[in-house]
Amino acid sequence: MSFSKKLKQLFTSTPPKNNWDGLIETYKTWLPVSNKTPIITLKEGATPLIEVKSISNRIGNGVKVFVKYDGLNPTGSFKDRGMTMAISKAKEAGCEAVICASTGNTSASAAAYASKGGMKSFVIIPDGYVAQGKLAQALVYGAEVLAIKGNFDKALDIVRELSDKYPITLVNSVNPYRLQGQKTAAFEIIENLGNAPDWLCIPMGNAGNISAYWMGFQEFFHAGKSKRLPRMMGFQASGSAPLVEGKSINNPETIATAIRIGNPVNKEKAILAKESSNGRFSSVSDSEIINAYKILGREEGIFCEPASAASVAGLLKIKEDVPKNSTIVCVLTGNGLKDPDCAIKNNDSIFHTGVEAEINSITKIMGF
Ligand SMILES: *Cc1c(COP(=O)(O)O)cnc(C)c1O
Repeated sequence: MSFSKKLKQLFTSTPPKNNWDGLIETYKTWLPVSNKTPIITLKEGATPLIEVKSISNRIGNGVKVFVKYDGLNPTGSFKDRGMTMAISKAKEAGCEAVICASTGNTSASAAAYASKGGMKSFVIIPDGYVAQGKLAQALVYGAEVLAIKGNFDKALDIVRELSDKYPITLVNSVNPYRLQGQKTAAFEIIENLGNAPDWLCIPMGNAGNISAYWMGFQEFFHAGKSKRLPRMMGFQASGSAPLVEGKSINNPETIATAIRIGNPVNKEKAILAKESSNGRFSSVSDSEIINAYKILGREEGIFCEPASAASVAGLLKIKEDVPKNSTIVCVLTGNGLKDPDCAIKNNDSIFHTGVEAEINSITKIMGF
């Protein structure tokens, strides 16, 4: 073929088709949508399941550990799975504005999907306790941000009251469509592994995600798409562990700000998931979280946020109890880029500053 003919063909052929249309389109028969639902999507979902040998090796006994890297969603957290559903249903209902309380990721996701759907978003966050990347996102995606002098739990009380009294839709995980969207992560894991894992390890804040995964695993199991149900292993930061301690925490504290929540709204659902799956709730300290965070970065090339590392930290903490030859999935809920301050403060790498811009000083440092 002549060059000019090739060139012509290149410009007249149809562009490649997008082979992933987002999770609502993919799983619509499993979701409460109809052909009247306007699908507001940023092509979320289809995130990778990655084997992490450095973690498997630390456990031994033929155990295989994978991470579900949900930090690769469009706004960098699993919240997008729930938000595509919540915003599409809000749009279907004719709503013009949405509101949420957030430790950061919900606000980033709500703001992005609201903008995509032509809606206004308001987000209420605890002043000073939201990671920089998340705040930057909410602002760039066009939310109106209100940072309150109070923690997440207080912010949630306020938005619940506002959405009761005013024409504005609440998109926190009390919104049932959020959990519907989030359950699709369990579907993807079953499709990737050809079965459910033995254990699912997951961080818990408001405990919506563990409840959503459990719903997804059950639905696929009952449809014959998996041969077993996993044990649901939920982890919290020790300074913020209401589900482990069995009582609300008034002043939750942890480096993992995404799970700095003292009174989880989905606590009953999460307890049910734990009990019906013969699962377990445990807590991990901030230093255990940071240890797992560093291992994932340095040994696996995976940068997650501290809250996400709680799933791996938790698994390492109870590694003695892991059955031989089992398959385990740890959920990495958010992307490490969300919290650059934490990253810069917590790493074991060498960072030389003020280096002279000439070869000799550089080779000297490099040890040549
Ligand atoms: C929201 C969030 C969690 C906690 O999820 P819940 O559904 O509230 O339990 C964990 N990690 C990250 C990164 C989050 O954004």
